[in-house]
Amino acid sequence: MDFIRSMISRDWEKGKYGGKIVTRFPPEPNGFLHIGHAKAICLNFGIASEYPGGRCHLRFDDTNPGTEKVEYAEAMKRDIRWLGFDWGEHLYHASDYFEKLFSFALVLVRKGLAYVDASSEAEIREQRGTVTRPGTNSPYRNRSFPENRDLFMRMKKGEFPDGSHVLRAKIDMAHPNMVMRDPILYRIRRAVRHYRRGNTWAIYPLYDFAHCLSDSIEGVTHSLCTLEFDNNREIYDWLLEHVDAPSPRPEQTEFARLVLDYVITSKRKLRLLVEEGRVRGWDDPRMPTLAGLRRRGVTPEAIRDLCRMVGVAKAASRVDAGKFDFIIRNDLNRKAPRAFCVLDPLKVVITNYPEGQEESFSAPSFPRDVGKPGTRELPFGRVVYIDREDFAEVPPPGFRRLVPGGEVRLKYACVIRCESVVKDPTSGRVTELRCTFDPASRGAKTSDGRKIQGTIHWVAGAGAVSAEVRLLGRLFAVPDPLASSDFMQTLNPNSERVVTDALVEPGVAGSAPGTHYQFERHGYFFSDPLDSSAEKPVFNRTVTLRNGWRRKSRQISGAKTGTATPAAPPKAISYGSAAMSQANSQATATSGGSTGGAFRTASGHAFRSEEERTRFQGFVSQGVPNTTAASLARSPERTAVFRAAADSYPAGARSLASWLVNEVARVVGADGGGDLARLHPQALADLARAVDEGGLSRRKGRAVLEVLLAQGGAFLDVRGKLDLTETRDENTLNAILEEIIEDFPDKAVAYRNGKRGLLNFFVGEVMKRSEGKADPKTASRQARILLKPGNAPGQSGQRK
Ligand code: ATP
Ligand code: MG
Repeated sequence: MDFIRSMISRDWEKGKYGGKIVTRFPPEPNGFLHIGHAKAICLNFGIASEYPGGRCHLRFDDTNPGTEKVEYAEAMKRDIRWLGFDWGEHLYHASDYFEKLFSFALVLVRKGLAYVDASSEAEIREQRGTVTRPGTNSPYRNRSFPENRDLFMRMKKGEFPDGSHVLRAKIDMAHPNMVMRDPILYRIRRAVRHYRRGNTWAIYPLYDFAHCLSDSIEGVTHSLCTLEFDNNREIYDWLLEHVDAPSPRPEQTEFARLVLDYVITSKRKLRLLVEEGRVRGWDDPRMPTLAGLRRRGVTPEAIRDLCRMVGVAKAASRVDAGKFDFIIRNDLNRKAPRAFCVLDPLKVVITNYPEGQEESFSAPSFPRDVGKPGTRELPFGRVVYIDREDFAEVPPPGFRRLVPGGEVRLKYACVIRCESVVKDPTSGRVTELRCTFDPASRGAKTSDGRKIQGTIHWVAGAGAVSAEVRLLGRLFAVPDPLASSDFMQTLNPNSERVVTDALVEPGVAGSAPGTHYQFERHGYFFSDPLDSSAEKPVFNRTVTLRNGWRRKSRQISGAKTGTATPAAPPKAISYGSAAMSQANSQATATSGGSTGGAFRTASGHAFRSEEERTRFQGFVSQGVPNTTAASLARSPERTAVFRAAADSYPAGARSLASWLVNEVARVVGADGGGDLARLHPQALADLARAVDEGGLSRRKGRAVLEVLLAQGGAFLDVRGKLDLTETRDENTLNAILEEIIEDFPDKAVAYRNGKRGLLNFFVGEVMKRSEGKADPKTASRQARILLKPGNAPGQSGQRK
C-alpha cells in the first residue's frame, strides 16, 4: 500500500469525513492528456473505487480563458473512459463556480484579508522579494474595505483594462513561503472569451484561489496533486480557513510526477510540437498522449500496469523506457495474433514448383505458451517473397539464413535452397532468387533429419497484400529532453521510418482498423484506426520484439563459436554490390606485390580473405575510418558484435567501431577475441549512444565497458551499480543539494535563520534523489557547507 492509500485508510478508519471518500481529477482543458496524467487518473479513480460509496469527480479546471477549448475537454473525457475510468454523474467545471468564487472573494475583502492593487506586474514581482530577502508592502495594501469593495465590483463589471488592477490576499510580505506573500487571487481578462462562459466575466480567479474552493464546493475529501504544489498547500489551507469553508475541509497531499525516459509530459510543450508541425497531431502515434499511445497500439491495460508498477511515492524518480516497453510486450503477447509481414520484399521463384499450382499451410495464431487456440491459413505457390535482409550473398559470420547454395526453412511451409541469384544488370542489386524446394519438407520438417539452421518468414505472391508500415521509434533522442536548453533540438530525426510497400499475409488485410498483430520477428503492430483500409492496410509499430532472433544468432555465433562461417558462395557470383566489386578490382589492380595478406585495397590495407576485404569496404562505407575499419574487418568476433550493435544504433557506426577496436583492445588486448563473449551488443550500443549524446563521460564509459567485458549485463544496470562508487563525490552531491535548495527555498531560509533541525530534511532528500546511493555523512557535510548563511545566492544583496 502506498503512503496516500495508508493515509486515506487511516482517515476512513477514524471516520474523519463521516464515511465519505471523494477524490477528483482536475485537468485544465488546454491540450490532450498524456501518460503522466494517467498516473493521476489511476490514483484518484482507483482510490475512489476502493471504498464503498467512494467517488472521483472529473473537474475541468477551466479558469484560464483563451487557452481552453471544448475540443480538449471532449478529448479528455474520451481518453479517461478509454483508460477504463468513469466519473458517472460527477462532471464539474470550475467555470460553473465563478459566481460562488466571487462571493468568497468578497468575504475576504470584507474581513480585510484581500485588497485591490493597482501595482503593475513588474512592481508586484519586485515587491515579492526573493527567497533570501523579505518582500515589501504594496502602496495599496491598506485601502479601506469600502474602497476595496467598490474597486473589486468595478473590476468585475469590466470598467478597467487588463492588467490595471488585481485582487490580492493580505497575508505577510515577509512570509518564508513566497507563495504566501500576498498572492494574486483575481486578474482582469476583459478581451478574451471563455469557451463556456463567453464574455460574461471580465475577471478570472487564479489557480490557488479557485482550486481549494472548488474542492470544498464539491465536498472533496482528499485533494491529491503533484509535488510542485508542495509550497501551495499553505495557501490552500489559509484560504479555506478564512472564507469559513465548512469542516471537515479537504486536504491536499502531494505525490511525485510520473517521469518517463525519452518522454516529455507537459501539455504546453506537447502543444508546441503540434503547433510547429514536428508531429502530425496530438494523436500522432509517437506522442506520449493517451490518444497517441492508443493509436500506436498501446492498450489501457498496459498503461494501468505501468502506473501500478511505478507506484505512488513522494520521491521523484525517472522510469526507464525499457520498463514500459516490457509491460507493453507482456500485454500484447497474449492479445496480438501472429502474422507474417515482409518489410523489404525480395522475390523468390521456386523453379521446381509447378506453375499454376497452389496449396496452403496452416499456422498457429499464438505460440503454445500463450495457450490460446486459433490457426491461420497461409497460401503458398511458385512465387514467394522473403525479407531482403534474410538473404546474404556474402554472409557475415554467424549468418544463419539464406545464402547462395544454402538452405533455409520457410516457417510453417517447407525448406528451400537458393540455386541462383538474379541481379539488375546496371545497379547490380539482387532482384530475384531462383530456388528449389524440397517436396518432402512440406510442413517445414525434413524427412532425412538433416539440420536446417535458419527459419525465416515469408509471404506468398498469390494473395499477398501491399501495406504501409510505420516503424516508429522514440520521439526524442535523449532520455531527458528537458535537461537540454532547447528540447526541440533533442527530437529524434529517425523517430519514424515509413515503408510504403511491405507485404502482409492475406488474412491480415481483412481485419478491422485497430487490430493488434505480432509480425513475426519484426515486433508488435497495430492497424492505424484512421488511415488503414482493406485496400491499403496501414500499420504502426507499437513496440519491437525484445530478443530479435537476428541479434541473438549473431551474438551467439560471433562471440561464442567464433569463426563458424557458412560455406563460401559459389564462385560464379560476384561479391557485394556492383560498386563494391568495382572498388575491389581496382584495389586488386593497384595492390602491386607488397607484403601482408593477398587481398588488398586501394588504401593499402591487406586482408587474408576476400571476405575480410568486403567487410572492410562495408565498414568504410558506413563512415568508419580506414584504420579502424581494417582492424575491425580482420576480427570476425568484433565484426559480429559490431553488426548487432549497429542494428540498434545505426547512426553510431563510427563510434561503435572505435569502442570495439580502440577501447576494447585497451582492456583485453588487441587480439582478445574470445573476451568479447560476455559483451552484449545491445549493451555496447547503449554505452556508445550514452557517450555520444553526452549523458556519460568517456572516462566513465570506459569504466562501464570494463565491467561489461568482465561480467556482461545490461548497460543501465552496470552504469547504475557503478554510480555507487561515486556517491562520495562532492560535486555530484552538491549538484543534488543545489537542486533541493532550489526546490525548497523556504526550508533553506528557515535553516539559515537557525532551524538547524532541518538538516535532516536535506540529507533525507539527498538520499531519496540519489536512490539511496549517497553517502549520508558526506551528504550531511556538504549540506552544512552549502546552507551556511554566507553561501546563499543573493545573500550579499540583503546585507547592503
Ligand atoms: P501539464 O504541464 O501537462 O499541463 P498540469 O499539471 O498543468 O500538467 P493539469 O491538466 O493541471 O496539467 O493536470 C491535471 C492533474 O494531473 C493534476 O492534478 C496534475 O498534478 C496531474 N499530473 C499532471 N502531470 C502529471 C505527471 N507527469 N504525473 C502525475 N500526475 C500528473
Ligand atoms: Mg497546467
